[in-house]
Amino acid sequence: MRIETLAVHAGRHVDPSTGAVAVPVHLATTFERDPDGGYSRGHLYARNSNPTRETLEACLRDLEGGVAAAAFGSGTAATAAVFQSLVPGDHVVAPMDAYHGTLRQLREVFAPRGVEVSFVEMTDPSMVETALRPSTRLVWIETPSNPLWKVTDIARVAEIAHGVGATCLCDSTAASPVLQRPLALGADLVMHATTKYLGGHSDVMGGAIVAAAEGGVFARVRALQAALGAVPSPFDCWLVLRGIQTLPWRVRAQSENAARVAAFLAGHPRVAAVHYPGLASHPGHALAARQMSAFGGMLSFQVRGGRDDAMAVAAKVRLFTRATSFGGTESLIEHRASVEGPETRTPQGLLRLSVGLEHADDLIEDLAQALG
Ligand SMILES: *Cc1c(COP(=O)(O)O)cnc(C)c1O
Repeated sequence: MRIETLAVHAGRHVDPSTGAVAVPVHLATTFERDPDGGYSRGHLYARNSNPTRETLEACLRDLEGGVAAAAFGSGTAATAAVFQSLVPGDHVVAPMDAYHGTLRQLREVFAPRGVEVSFVEMTDPSMVETALRPSTRLVWIETPSNPLWKVTDIARVAEIAHGVGATCLCDSTAASPVLQRPLALGADLVMHATTKYLGGHSDVMGGAIVAAAEGGVFARVRALQAALGAVPSPFDCWLVLRGIQTLPWRVRAQSENAARVAAFLAGHPRVAAVHYPGLASHPGHALAARQMSAFGGMLSFQVRGGRDDAMAVAAKVRLFTRATSFGGTESLIEHRASVEGPETRTPQGLLRLSVGLEHADDLIEDLAQALG
C-alpha cells in the first residue's frame, strides 16, 4: 500500500464493540484478568500496553515498513531508551551535528556511565569506518541533519555498521516516513520525534523507535519502555494518530513551499547562504535526490553580517513565529545558535525555518519585508 493509504488506515480498525470509526482513547490503567488468571484480551497494565498506544505503534510500524514499534513520551525518551540498552564499555558512533539533545545525552548522561562515544562527520562514510572498534554496538545516523540539513548515505553507513556487527539507527525526524524509508535502505532501527511532522500541529510530544526485526537492541528498548516507564499518555497517542492521517499531504505541501522559499532566499542580496538539500548547490543534493522522495520543509539561511543582523530579521517577520521545534502547520523562524548555547558550532548569522502550510507567496512576502 502507498503511504497516503497507510497514513489513513495502518493500525486502525472500526471499534468492534461500538462501531466507532475514530480510534477510541482508552484511559484505563488496568485491565481485567480472565477467570483462569490469563489476559486473553492482550492488556494487563497501561505502562506495559494500552489499546490506543498499540494502535499508534502498529501505525508507525507500517508507515516505516518495520516489524514492530515502541512509542515514548518524547523523542528524547525514545533516544534515551536506545542508549539505555547499552552497557559500560559499549561504543557508539554518532554524528558531530546530531540533534543537540542527543549530543547532550551522550556527553552528559551516558558517557559518564561508561558508554564510549566517537563523534564523526557522518556524511563522510570513511570517517565512520575509521571510528569503528570491536566494541562498536551502535552507529547513530541523523539525516537530514539540523541545521545545515546535511545528508548521510543511509545504505552505505548501515553496511559499514553491519561489518562489525553494530546496529544502525537512523533519526529520521526531519524527513518523516513520507520522504525516506531508512529500514528499506538497510538501517535496523528508525527513531522519530513524533512531536514534529507526525504529530504535525505543535500540540503533542512523543517519540518512537521502529524496528526492522524483533530481538537485538529493539527487544531491550521494548523492555525498557515498560521498565523505565517513559510512555506516552493515551490522549497523546491519539493526537499523534490524528496528525498522521494528513501527514503525506502536509509534508508534500511543506516541501513545495520550502523549495519556493529557498529559491527566493538564494536570490536575495542580503542572504549569504541557503542550506536546503533541494538546491543544486547543496553538498547533499545528489544523495538526497536518490535517497528521499522530496527535500522536506526545513531550511536554514545565513544573513550577511552576523548575529545582530540575523536577530533583526527574525524580529521583523510577521507571519513566521519566533519559536523552536518544527513540523507544525504554522511556519517558524529560529536563531539556532541562541538555543544551542555557547558551545554551538552553528553560524551566528544563521536562521532556521520550519516552513508550514501557509501560501508560499505570503511566506516569501513576509521574508522580503523582513530582509528589507
Ligand atoms: C525534536 C527532535 C528530537 C527530540 O524530540 P523531543 O520530542 O523534543 O524530545 C530528536 N531528534 C530530532 C532530529 C529532533 O528534531
